[in-house]
Amino acid sequence: MNKFRPTGITADRTQRVVKITWNDGHESSYPFAGLRAACPCAECRGGHENMGQPPDRRAVRDTVNEGINLEQVEAVGSYALQFRWSDGHLAGIYTWEFLRQACPCPVCLPES
Ligand SMILES: [Zn+2]
Ligand SMILES: [Zn+2]
Repeated sequence: MNKFRPTGITADRTQRVVKITWNDGHESSYPFAGLRAACPCAECRGGHENMGQPPDRRAVRDTVNEGINLEQVEAVGSYALQFRWSDGHLAGIYTWEFLRQACPCPVCLPES
């Protein structure tokens, strides 16, 4: 069961990050390039059998932005977001659970 829900979602196209505030007060900031790299769709995962894997927080944090921008964010029902990227890709459905697991902040991704 996923108890996490966003209370606020903003896309900052200057800093190229998506910011999500959660119902437990946690704040996440996702670089566009990292979110794009973590796209959970079958095409980006390399096949349906690879779908449903948890996101790689390090990749979300560290992927270098080589010009990716976010054109549009749309809610999918009440459970997910769909992003339209500047490369035209829009197949990824990012559920709340996935986004929370992808949070690259120092609390969720401590340096080791
Ligand atoms: Zn994809
Ligand atoms: Zn976090």
